[in-house]
Amino acid sequence: MLRAVLVAPPGAGKGTQGERLATVYGVVHISAGEILRLDVARHTPTGLQVAAALDRGELVDDAIVTRAIFQRLGKAAEGFVLDGFPRTLAQAVAADEWTVRAGLPLHAAIELQVPRQELVNRLTRRAAHSSRSDDTRETILHRLDVYDRDAHDLLGYYRRRGILITVDGTGPIDAVTERIRLQLDQVLAR
Ligand code: AMP
Repeated sequence: MLRAVLVAPPGAGKGTQGERLATVYGVVHISAGEILRLDVARHTPTGLQVAAALDRGELVDDAIVTRAIFQRLGKAAEGFVLDGFPRTLAQAVAADEWTVRAGLPLHAAIELQVPRQELVNRLTRRAAHSSRSDDTRETILHRLDVYDRDAHDLLGYYRRRGILITVDGTGPIDAVTERIRLQLDQVLAR
């Protein structure tokens, strides 16, 4: 069983790699963004609270997103790949508390590294076909800045915890999956 989080900027391939890793390791893929977008689409109380932040590419309140994720995680605590959560240090601490209390601590935090210009290119291409309200040219740079603001603290936290895996996220999708697998298999064999 694998319990991992993906930490990467928008456009780095969190969703794509998260799905693939979940298949490879036979666990559930949980996307924070998807959960929130579903809440918005269904007009749930959470959806109403977060819609504006989502549209602007701002982070949703820690307490709201944490509650939504843990609700989902409760059904899959033994094995999961979480993508898009945690995004802040407070969320990372909450995730650790939750998983450790369940006796099911994280094996790895996977960082996908992609140069900023490549991210802008990918997100611009995606915006042309996307139905997502935040996939617009205007929000792309802002969402990248929002990531940069918290990434340093978040990655430092996992580095100190000794579970950070850093992977080159450029090149063919298969090659990126393979790079992640190589490192994850080492971690799981420990
Ligand atoms: P994503 O699908 O991961 O690109 O997330 C889309 C949007 O959902 C983000 O721009 C935020 O508005 C919101 N969101 C997703 N995950 C989180 C999180 N962990 N904390 C706060 N907001 C989040």
